[in-house]
Amino acid sequence: QRLLETFVSQIALALERVRLAAEAQSAQLKIETEQLRNSLLSAISHDLRTPLAAIVGASSSLVRDSERLDDVARRELGQAIYDEATRMASLANNLLDMARLQAGAIVLNRQWQPLEEVVGAALAGMNARLADHPVTVRLTRDLPLVEIDSLLIERVFANLLDNAVKYTPPGTPIEIGAAAAAGELTVTVSDRGHGIPAGEEKLIFEKFHRVASEGNQGGAGLGLSISRSIIEAHGGKIWAENLSTGGAAFHFTLLLSEPPSIEHEENA
Ligand code: ADP
Repeated sequence: QRLLETFVSQIALALERVRLAAEAQSAQLKIETEQLRNSLLSAISHDLRTPLAAIVGASSSLVRDSERLDDVARRELGQAIYDEATRMASLANNLLDMARLQAGAIVLNRQWQPLEEVVGAALAGMNARLADHPVTVRLTRDLPLVEIDSLLIERVFANLLDNAVKYTPPGTPIEIGAAAAAGELTVTVSDRGHGIPAGEEKLIFEKFHRVASEGNQGGAGLGLSISRSIIEAHGGKIWAENLSTGGAAFHFTLLLSEPPSIEHEENA
């Protein structure tokens, strides 16, 4: 509980600074910033409290009822703790990314890399999370190297894959593909879920915008907006579409030529 409070208060402090900066601007902007801060705080409190409560519940029965539990029950409780802690870790990562992006402190540590390595690292990091979905990777042979901040691009893959797990039924396939054309690499992560409701394809990239809210499957609505900031900082584009075969496809591009040397600005 103390951890949660410290965490929330740190975020509140960061947002307070953002709010102060915005005071210099129009009254309308001030109202929007206030709304943003409130929605962030309530989303974060909810999204941290829910998994925390589950972790406290599962771990306390492991400790208290340990003698009476059989192996299967113990494993299930362990799994529940792992799943919920993973969710909190992903939210914490997104909040940290968000704080960095908000502060305008996105410094790209670019290196020429094969995309395969970044995809491999992202998949390895999400191994347990992807256990219920067959994942196919289709990268065309001899893809050119890309000059990217691989940790940040890995975060984009992690967010897209995490969504592909959250918003699709277990057992449905997820595909990662990439092809080079016209000076850029286009990367696609697609699933066979219910897709994105019509008209929401652009909105889902806005901060805090969420469509699906069945149970507490989702997070704070930050993953896609962070992913967009990361891709735009690399000079690329990111967009979503529904597939005629069902499911959603998320595409992003990475430049193959010399990357632009413009400073990234959050366009929130
Ligand atoms: P979060 O998942 O935390 O809500 P995101 O920014 O990652 O936030 O996603 C925003 C919204 O976009 C989600 O709440 C969901 O409604 C929708 N969405 C994202 N990925 C998918 C997907 N693969 N299929 C269907 N809807 C999706």
